Amino acid sequence: MARELVNELTWSVSRDRLFRQCRRAYYYNYYGSWGGWDAAAADERTRRIYILKNIQSLNMWAGGIVHDTIAEALRRFAAKTEPVTVEALRQAARSKLRRGWLEAVNREWLVSPKKTNLFELYYGNGATVPEELTEDVKTRVYGCLEALATSPLLAEIIAAGYMNWKPVDTLDAFVLDDGLKVWCAIDFAFFDEAGMLRILDWKTGSEQPEELKVQLACYAMFAMRKWKAPLQRLRLAGVFLGDTARVSEYPLSTELLADTENIIGESIGKMRLPLSEPEKNMAREEDFPTCDVPRICGRCNFREVCPAITGSKPKTEAAPASAHEE
Ligand code: SF4
Repeated sequence: MARELVNELTWSVSRDRLFRQCRRAYYYNYYGSWGGWDAAAADERTRRIYILKNIQSLNMWAGGIVHDTIAEALRRFAAKTEPVTVEALRQAARSKLRRGWLEAVNREWLVSPKKTNLFELYYGNGATVPEELTEDVKTRVYGCLEALATSPLLAEIIAAGYMNWKPVDTLDAFVLDDGLKVWCAIDFAFFDEAGMLRILDWKTGSEQPEELKVQLACYAMFAMRKWKAPLQRLRLAGVFLGDTARVSEYPLSTELLADTENIIGESIGKMRLPLSEPEKNMAREEDFPTCDVPRICGRCNFREVCPAITGSKPKTEAAPASAHEE
């Protein structure tokens, strides 16, 4: 018999980011959409919020295609020694771009909300976006893949042999000493020639050092707990694919791990405060203020249901300025 899903209070870098940006968007994403995957059982508004939650901007879509293409190519190399070439990556990405675009314009997400639903189409005319935007997506996707395929890093990964690769790129979690579950999805990890376990995060955007430091520290905690990897054997890096696959290393230390645990502890404490029943992780929409920051609202998935945009209900008190930091 299928186990009923429980909406637990858990932590992730992206959850923390959304909580700091806008409390109301955070509510919609983690509470208002809960159960919306079940079209038959969910009420109309929950289903709608769930569909909105799954919208992606063109930038996110491009990043997802790059990640998926790399993950699949590395899996194919591990399974069949199929070479990871610029042309093979490009072809795979081209078919994902085509399929995703069709899913979006045909509104397949109405029935299957995980299918591609693009912000610029959803909140645009539903059929087209300016050609320069789609061209930019293609250029960025192909550029990132070419940068990786021709990089010394990929040569090093291939030379290490797939027996030295860790099976990753799926969402997984570890549990802190206080019982809090922390989600993370390591993009790639392998043992290099020197016996170091290298944990890599593919990035298609610009470097955000503070956030990346916390994200990589979470990966290190995961590796230490799940893979029993010793701290002194770990090396962490972001790989900036849009910047010639530049490898940006982040030194790991016990201090960084302790600081990260403190950041997570403080963040989760703030997330518990607005809950109506913290022990059951129950929340009410009205306890999560709208942020009313045009820069953030302008690109928010939940514009269609949010009273800050629709004006359907009185706005709640704006969150403090610090809540809008990215
Ligand atoms: S539209 Fe603005 S206020 Fe409303 S949920 Fe989105 S970011 Fe928050």
